[in-house]
This record gives sequence, C-alpha cells and structure tokens, in this order.
Amino acid sequence: MDKLTKKLIQRFKTNDPFVIAKGLNINVKFESFHDGTRGLYYRVLRRRFIVIHEGLDDTWKRFICAHELGHDRLHNGLNRFWLDEHSFFTPGKFEREATEFAVLLLSKGTQISDCTTIYEAALNAGIPVEFAHYLEKFVSCSNMERSEYDGILS
Ligand SMILES: [Zn+2]
Repeated sequence: MDKLTKKLIQRFKTNDPFVIAKGLNINVKFESFHDGTRGLYYRVLRRRFIVIHEGLDDTWKRFICAHELGHDRLHNGLNRFWLDEHSFFTPGKFEREATEFAVLLLSKGTQISDCTTIYEAALNAGIPVEFAHYLEKFVSCSNMERSEYDGILS
C-alpha cells in the first residue's frame, strides 16, 4: 500500500486526493446527506463515482475523498457499493484498508516525522484526529501517549 500511494503521488505530482481522483477519471460529487453518510463510492458500468457529504468541513472532505480513492484502488475486484457512515468507526477489514490508504496518502509530503504526538502529526497531515492512531504504524513521535485523547474518541 505504501508503494501504491507513492506511485500515485509520483504520477500526479501531488497527494491531493481530488486531483488524483480527477486524473483517474473518477467523478467526484458533493451531496447533502441526512442519514450520517459521509461518503460513498460506486461504479456504474465503467464509470466510477465518489460522493462526499457537502456538510463536512474541508479536512473531512479531503479525507473522505482519499478514503474512497482507497476503495477504488484496493477493492477494484469487489463489485460493491461502498457506503461510509457511522460504521466508519467500527470498521471491518475493507474499511480499515481504505482508511490506511487515506492516511498514507495524506501523510506523504507532510512533515510529520518530528512531531511530538501522533495527534500533532495527524493535524499537520490534515487527517481527522479520530484516525490519528493509524499513524502509529508509520511514524514515531517523541510522545506516543494516547491517553490524553482516549476520552473523546469513544
Ligand atoms: Zn469506506
């Protein structure tokens, strides 16, 4: 997955998921959902779509775009409709993979290696704090304590 994100960044000369999605001919749309849906990814014949909840802030929109891009790149063979809502936070294998993809993509090209905490690293990379723990695999911060935030992430 590390290779995959590196290759995409080299190819498109950016880690901006919106630019990459466009470059891959994926249609990105914004819609207003009222049921907790944050984003979804689907294919119709050979056209691919990412739909992002327009009520999210920019950090979340970017993150969702990167996550749906993960479904496109990783779960190609699975002809499924990916719907990301509350279940996001108790994810199964495929959701974890898509989120890991997003975290890797967004953290590349960002100075996160000398951060004090993974939360600072997530902030610098534009990753919602809810997913900061995914960074534990990729960065080493001087203070890896999580307790400070554990309370707000339940
Ligand atoms: Zn997903």
